[in-house]
Amino acid sequence: MKTPFTTKEKLEEIAAAYPTPFHIYDEKGIRENAAKVKEAFSWNKGFREYFAVKATPNPFILQILKEYGCGADCSSLTELQLSHACGFAGEEIMFSSNDTPDEEFVRANEMGAIINLDDITHIDDVKRLLGKLPETMSCRYNPGGVYEISNGIMDNPGDAKYGMTHDQLLSAYKRMKEEGVKQFGLHAFLVSNTVTNDYYPALAKTLFELAVEIKEKSGVSLNFINLSGGVGIAYHPDQKANDIAVIGEGVRKVYEEVLIPAGLGDIAIYTEMGRFMLGPYGALVTRAIHEKKTYKDYIGVDACAANLMRPAMYGAYHHITVMGKEDAECDHTYDVTGSLCENNDKFAIDRKLPEIQKGDLLFIHDTGAHGSSMGYNYNGRLWSSEILLKEDQSFTLIRRAQEPKDYFATLDCFPIWDKLSKEF
Ligand SMILES: *Cc1c(COP(=O)(O)O)cnc(C)c1O
Repeated sequence: MKTPFTTKEKLEEIAAAYPTPFHIYDEKGIRENAAKVKEAFSWNKGFREYFAVKATPNPFILQILKEYGCGADCSSLTELQLSHACGFAGEEIMFSSNDTPDEEFVRANEMGAIINLDDITHIDDVKRLLGKLPETMSCRYNPGGVYEISNGIMDNPGDAKYGMTHDQLLSAYKRMKEEGVKQFGLHAFLVSNTVTNDYYPALAKTLFELAVEIKEKSGVSLNFINLSGGVGIAYHPDQKANDIAVIGEGVRKVYEEVLIPAGLGDIAIYTEMGRFMLGPYGALVTRAIHEKKTYKDYIGVDACAANLMRPAMYGAYHHITVMGKEDAECDHTYDVTGSLCENNDKFAIDRKLPEIQKGDLLFIHDTGAHGSSMGYNYNGRLWSSEILLKEDQSFTLIRRAQEPKDYFATLDCFPIWDKLSKEF
């Protein structure tokens, strides 16, 4: 059973001010969760969560998380710019990018961000661009093969484009040490959206043992280990949500078993969660505007995959609540669709739902991370607005909806611009 974090009345009140579709965020939920994350790792002196900006690149959200001591994990120029403008600077910014353009290394370094290298050849790139290597550097590890945690939860790092091999990693640390780097980090992201409390502890064991080996073979003592993202959320009502307190304890246990006996008890633990920090605390609110009956029953809504790409892109499940019909029987079977000229533009396929009438508001759960941020403009569809539902139940616009003038702005170099701008 999944319950929306707000009511139909509140959503109708918001929709009267800001038309559907919109993404809405629950400030109370975000704050409570951020506090729990901080608490779960408080045993580690240097702990910091670097929020993965790509999940929800909104300044209001970033500033809330900053209050809980979070830093910003960026992987592009605009994410760096946004984070810097939100007041993150120096070691509060982690630059975990891959296939990185020159300009972005330079900009990250100007901000004092920690550069996390995806590849061994990037050592030369950074040296060429900055004259010398920064005092603090981190490396991303990819163990290859298959990484298995428990209960069949696994992924294929061997097929992933990210990170360095074991041997490259050891050479990278030796080289960086010779080049005068003073502080070192290790990073890995091996499995995505893990709905288990075992992932971080398993990853921690892998990385902590590697830290001991790095110390022995290259003489480098790591200053931090970055467990990155991958802590999942229960998108499906049958799934059991992760418990961050249990996860934090699991990591502590491995820390005490592996690092402390090896004399590496000063290592700071970093995380780079996006989904776990925001996913459940956002929803896409959309209105049913059509019902169509052909070989199947379709409900057409005013949002489309351009507002939430995950179902179309990965076949991802997002739970749907029909507002005001929370207790009604789910005795109808619908495909819930958007308007894109793409048949994968469906928020749900053969979903059991209560009978839906035109005008009903649908609450599409768990869009707080990788939701609005994955928006795009295919079919000329425009980005929807973002609303923050505050703790006192008032609401505020934190991103306005895109308008045609925004969509066309990049055509202002053409003579047609004069005619076009008369259209809006
Ligand atoms: C996407 C990403 C994250 C966040 O992943 P989540 O699954 O949202 O926690 C963290 N670090 C890096 C480098 C990423 O690419």
